[in-house]
Amino acid sequence: MQQGGEMQQGAASPGERVVVIGGGPAGLEAAWGVARLGCPVTLVEWAAFLGGTPVAENYAALTPNFEDAEAAMQRMIDRVSPHPLVDIRLRSQVTAFDEREGGGFTVTLSSAGDGSGTSTLDAGAVVVATGFQHFDPGRETQMYGYYEYPDVVALQDLEAMLKDHNVVRPSNGEPPERICFVQCVGSRDRQIGNEYCSKVCCGVASKEAIEVRQQLPGCKVFIFYIDMRMYGYWESQIYWPAQEQYHVQYIKGIITEVLPKDGKLLVRGEDTTMGRPMEVPMDMVVLSVGMEPSLGTRLTAQTLGLRQNKYGFIDAAYPPLDTVSTSRPGVFACGAALGPSDLEDSISSAGAAAMRAVVHVRDRSSVTAAG
Ligand SMILES: Cc1cc2nc3c(=O)[nH]c(=O)nc-3n(C[C@H](O)[C@H](O)[C@H](O)COP(=O)(O)OP(=O)(O)OC[C@H]3O[C@@H](n4cnc5c(N)ncnc54)[C@H](O)[C@@H]3O)c2cc1C
Ligand code: SF4
Repeated sequence: MQQGGEMQQGAASPGERVVVIGGGPAGLEAAWGVARLGCPVTLVEWAAFLGGTPVAENYAALTPNFEDAEAAMQRMIDRVSPHPLVDIRLRSQVTAFDEREGGGFTVTLSSAGDGSGTSTLDAGAVVVATGFQHFDPGRETQMYGYYEYPDVVALQDLEAMLKDHNVVRPSNGEPPERICFVQCVGSRDRQIGNEYCSKVCCGVASKEAIEVRQQLPGCKVFIFYIDMRMYGYWESQIYWPAQEQYHVQYIKGIITEVLPKDGKLLVRGEDTTMGRPMEVPMDMVVLSVGMEPSLGTRLTAQTLGLRQNKYGFIDAAYPPLDTVSTSRPGVFACGAALGPSDLEDSISSAGAAAMRAVVHVRDRSSVTAAG
């Protein structure tokens, strides 16, 4: 396909570029969309690589099709990187942001980390795609011992083990015989102030449970949940196969404590179906940590002067019918910077943000031309 020849009639002048901040799945999709619509785009990523959290945290396979996460992200990178309208700036961040006289923005970029190597860009519109970070289970008010007991891990730690086909107890290097997942760690929790559901962790835990059963068929896998929230097709794509095909055992219960005992972990809580206390020994415990706004999302919101909600995610200005406009005209947001979202949501909002950013640039260009 001739990518460079797709400049449309009425396209923005070459000076009117869109700046996309964040090179994860959402930012890659937004940059690709902007370029496909014939508008120059600068993609700013503060890490040394593109691909976002799925690459940084070594995800194994993606829901719902169990596609290799690195390969899927590489596909997105490979179509964006060579595009003639795409300018990629790695190890860079936006350190200043000013409105230009007559509209548009001056965006100042500096090297991530030391702030050296400053340059400026003129932008007609900006898309923020700075994503999320995993909830730190050390902040959990309940007693799970993430930093105390090596065999207590988080979803992303197990992803990395699955990717290496090396699911072992960190304490002794032996394959586990019994693993359990604890759902809603850092989500739906009023005490810590994260009352929201993180949306992806029920599906991701179930997907990882299937992968554990595939890689270690002898290992028993349990999921302790408050209620399972699979959303849409994940119910039949992941949840039912996990139970029926892979014999993952789902137990409705609240886990309050994890303690070491006789070389194993004792998981304590309440079986809420039976209404009685429970204590079960496990070799490994996986904490299904939720999503919080990344540091980059918080900093970018401040630098660009965007309204954030009380959790720190960027506030969409006019939901539910416009989910990508922010409180600042000309600045759009997408992906997990707007709140917990899976890849499908992130990609969809990135496409919408790209379209809105290009329309904004073109509207400005036609006003300027007419004036
Ligand atoms: C353990 C786990 C497993 C998951 N597995 C799946 C799955 O199988 N299927 C699925 O649909 N979803 C999954 N998700 C959700 C998925 O990871 C997100 O939907 C997706 O990563 C969101 O993409 P994003 O681009 O918005 O954010 P991110 O992936 O977080 O990317 C943000 C990017 O922005 C960069 N950045 C941040 N701040 C700045 C800044 N100031 N300047 C420049 N760059 C910046 C970051 O370095 C990063 O590259 C999973 C989530 C978790 C917690
Ligand atoms: S997706 Fe599941 S584990 Fe995650 S916060 Fe929602 S209910 Fe809890």
